[in-house]
Amino acid sequence: MRIPDAVRATTDACDALPPVFFGPRRPVRGWGRATGSLSTVTQPAGDSAWRDQLASAGPRGLIARGGGCSYGDAAQNAGGIVALTGAVAPAGRFRVEDGTVVADAGVTLGALVRALAPQGWTLPVLPGTARVTVGGAIAADVHGKNHMQYGTFGSQVQEVSVLTPGLGPMTMGPRTNPDAFWATVGGLGLTGVIRQAMIDNMSRILTAENTQTWHDPTPENGQVTL
Ligand SMILES: Cc1cc2nc3c(=O)[nH]c(=O)nc-3n(C[C@H](O)[C@H](O)[C@H](O)COP(=O)(O)OP(=O)(O)OC[C@H]3O[C@@H](n4cnc5c(N)ncnc54)[C@H](O)[C@@H]3O)c2cc1C
Repeated sequence: MRIPDAVRATTDACDALPPVFFGPRRPVRGWGRATGSLSTVTQPAGDSAWRDQLASAGPRGLIARGGGCSYGDAAQNAGGIVALTGAVAPAGRFRVEDGTVVADAGVTLGALVRALAPQGWTLPVLPGTARVTVGGAIAADVHGKNHMQYGTFGSQVQEVSVLTPGLGPMTMGPRTNPDAFWATVGGLGLTGVIRQAMIDNMSRILTAENTQTWHDPTPENGQVTL
């Protein structure tokens, strides 16, 4: 569909994070700025708001939208609800433990990397933009530049909490509800709304905070930083 110029400032995201316009019949597009559509744009706050929204979505249903970095129309829902998970205000919660991070689905990978790096960790799989959210990375099962070694983002996920339209909240992972889990990984939001995820297999990185410098007495080596 053609979107009139007057409403071009719309729910595009990813590279610009413009103000988002909530309400009915809002134009929504992907990163490619093509094939826009009109939807009711919402940003439910908290579990009960998400449950209510999903239950009352109507015949066109609801699709979750993270950073809006999909090239095409994956995060659109013409005539239905497009519910933002929080990338526009990336203040979601996350917790980092040794090699594992538990994060709200709306947290951007950039926010996670910024929080992880000072502790000497980074995510095992990173796509080409940091504005992707955890939910979007799982729903599209994104790949990084180390795909041959690590596989996709979804293969690093241990557990997700999903609000499904039919069965309510579900916890799933490679060992718990594996069929539902693997339908959600790469499922483009069609099994429900990912609310939280536990990501494992984080990689150690060297940062100013966790590097050590010492002097090697052999003249050919001198100072070594690791
Ligand atoms: C500059 C650029 C570089 C990129 N580089 C790569 C790359 O290297 N590798 C790669 O694989 N991809 C890459 N992509 C694509 C991008 O990683 C994917 O499109 C990703 O899904 C976008 O995440 P998002 O949070 O923006 O999700 P959105 O675009 O908002 O949504 C994408 C899909 O995920 C679903 N979704 C989002 N959040 C949730 C949720 N909480 N629960 C359920 N479903 C949800 C949506 O319904 C939709 O189907 C790139 C994109 C751009 C713009």
